[in-house]
Amino acid sequence: MDFVSTRGGGEPVSFNEAFARGLAPDGGLYVPRHLPLLPQTILVEDALPYAALAWDFLSLFDSDHDSEHLVDIIDRSYGDFSDTMNAPLQQLADNLFVLELFHGPSLSFKDFGLQLIGSLFEDQIERTGVSINVLGATSGDTGAAAIHGLAGKKGAKVFVLYPEGRISELQERQMTCTGADNIYPIPIQGTFDDAQAIVKELMGDLAFKEEMRLSAINSINVVRILAQCVYYIHAFTQLPPDNRDDISFVVPTGNFGNIFAGWMVHQMGLPVDRFVVATNQNDILYRLFNSGEYKPDAVRPSHAPSMDIQVASNFERFLYYHNEKNAKATMAQMDQFKADGSIKIPNFNASNFAATRSTDEDILKNIRLVKEKYDYIVDPHTACGFQDLDLSSTHVILATAHPAKFPDTIRKAIGEAPTDPALEKLKNKEQVKYPVAATAAAVRQFLKENAI
Ligand SMILES: *Cc1c(COP(=O)(O)O)cnc(C)c1O
Repeated sequence: MDFVSTRGGGEPVSFNEAFARGLAPDGGLYVPRHLPLLPQTILVEDALPYAALAWDFLSLFDSDHDSEHLVDIIDRSYGDFSDTMNAPLQQLADNLFVLELFHGPSLSFKDFGLQLIGSLFEDQIERTGVSINVLGATSGDTGAAAIHGLAGKKGAKVFVLYPEGRISELQERQMTCTGADNIYPIPIQGTFDDAQAIVKELMGDLAFKEEMRLSAINSINVVRILAQCVYYIHAFTQLPPDNRDDISFVVPTGNFGNIFAGWMVHQMGLPVDRFVVATNQNDILYRLFNSGEYKPDAVRPSHAPSMDIQVASNFERFLYYHNEKNAKATMAQMDQFKADGSIKIPNFNASNFAATRSTDEDILKNIRLVKEKYDYIVDPHTACGFQDLDLSSTHVILATAHPAKFPDTIRKAIGEAPTDPALEKLKNKEQVKYPVAATAAAVRQFLKENAI
């Protein structure tokens, strides 16, 4: 399968090339040239083992690795999950299910994408003999997942900047207590935006990027989307037969990557009736799906910090399909967005979508309600999925993080906080981190001294 840019520039590229580039050269995002239909056998078989299903799905798109090699890459990515189902479906009530996506090594759904990205980087290094330095900035979950995807891998070093004191202690420990000597967590005195600005500046210096062989932890890599498609099918095949009509998937949403993956499998034939975009108080997507206008606001920090996003980078992919794959129209809209700071989408039709938004108060209320009603504890992101639920048909809510990652908010809601053995173990480990001054010059120097 070839991949093309949402803005139509450049030649189509193969799976490996789309993976290695991340962003297309014309600034667009890669999408598969066409979406194949899902083999019907995938949908009638009862819950295949996760790795087998991932192979069935990914081999539709990856024509670069031979099948045994792809088996190996997938096994390395998904063997390290604490639940043998990887993404188990829990039933809370007749029509209510929770898809638990937090059993990976860093306890958020981001492991599904970044474990595979880690294995593919490893494969690329073996194939090309060229080592890489991965550079990124994080406000928590992405950095932890990327670090766990690459910890201990030969030929790769990982440098992750984060704002000191502004991520939770457990999130910091997930990055600083890996024991792997190729991992460099870099606390800076500043905000997440400061950290990201430094990364952008260094990545934008193409000579430096090439000299250091820098790779990004890319939130827009098409491979992350493909990896995330798999658990929607896995969820479907775990549903009782009586619950397989009129299905809604409810997805706590920030960058629109997770929910877009679901919508893409739906285009490939997964029978889903509705996707519910669950936002927190940063509600740009809620407003979009109600008005057709895409207009960012200032980011307001919330109890669900991994969704504190205004410009949803994967939205461009949705726009491309909404334009019936017209790359010219998509590019014009993105240009207009850049110039005006907002776009009104003509004939906006998103009939498969609904949207909700939760204030911080709603988040606390939903955590409390779910505990009282179903004796189940959800994290603050997943709590947004329980907003305005109508259980007259089957709803599958995606649980995007383990509640033990956010003990303070959960305690505020229900007076107790869950624990997780993997996180408890981290509390006794020594932290290894490399504080660097919050300037591009200082980080550049640090990279020069420590890069592989
Ligand atoms: C990243 C993240 C989200 C948002 O996912 P998107 O793909 O950006 O929409 C939701 N919940 C948690 C816990 C996350 O880490």
